[in-house]
Amino acid sequence: MKLAVDATALRLEREPYYHPVHGEVELFEAAWRNRVPVLLKGPTGCGKTRFVEYMAWRLGRPLVTVSCHDDLTAADLAGRYLVTAGETVWVDGPMTRAVRLGAILYLDEIVEARKDTTVVIHPLADDRRALFLEKRGEVVHAPPEFMLAISYNPGYQSVLKELKQSTRQRFVAMEFDYPAAEAEAAIVARESGVDGATAQALVRLAHMTRNLKGNGLDEGASTRLLVHAGKLIAQGVAPRTACEAAVALALSDEREMLAALHELVSTVF
Ligand code: ADP
Repeated sequence: MKLAVDATALRLEREPYYHPVHGEVELFEAAWRNRVPVLLKGPTGCGKTRFVEYMAWRLGRPLVTVSCHDDLTAADLAGRYLVTAGETVWVDGPMTRAVRLGAILYLDEIVEARKDTTVVIHPLADDRRALFLEKRGEVVHAPPEFMLAISYNPGYQSVLKELKQSTRQRFVAMEFDYPAAEAEAAIVARESGVDGATAQALVRLAHMTRNLKGNGLDEGASTRLLVHAGKLIAQGVAPRTACEAAVALALSDEREMLAALHELVSTVF
């Protein structure tokens, strides 16, 4: 039986491409050395996951990533007894696996998870650095190399889904945002294969959509969407068509907003 959790554990063989923005690499390293967990704040698609992948590679640690969702429980993270072929066996959840491995554990969009997950996160995120597996009567102590990193997008969370003070005050917070125009164009060119001028045009389009945030759009186009558009263009899709598909339709379903986005695409391409 499979646990109801979408987790990946990997040891990164190759250096992931990451364009540092401002001192986040040094800050993360200092936190890791001091065994302090980190909280990455920022909009979706701005490079948080890529950053954690890069840091895991840099620090030579395996990376366990869990995409949190509203059905995710403490047992999904910690583990549970399962009955297979008449036998009851304990199966570690991704969090327990990550602690035993001395991995970097990345809980993406933590506020989406069920409230009971804080019970397992808290002792791991303070000086105890331990996981209490109540059902097994076992305490798993995190080795020094283990690190907990969580992400959170304050932009579109409802008040109900705000991160509790008792949780957030256990972490060193790092703020992420879309990279500055020049850096973002370099990232888009490198990740998608488009030329520099096209990458710059995509970034201009992104800035226009980001100005619509709060005026009909919940979020503007992320770096991720620009990379998607760039990949289509690099494959020969006409830039306007690529931007309609990868940017406009990805951002909104509303007819009026789509017309406005269409206008923006036409002014850039
Ligand atoms: P998040 O975790 O914030 O939702 P990701 O890390 O998945 O976002 O970033 C989305 C994509 O944007 C990445 O797959 C990568 O192509 C690109 N990207 C964003 N920022 C950077 C960066 N600083 N360096 C390299 N790639 C980046």
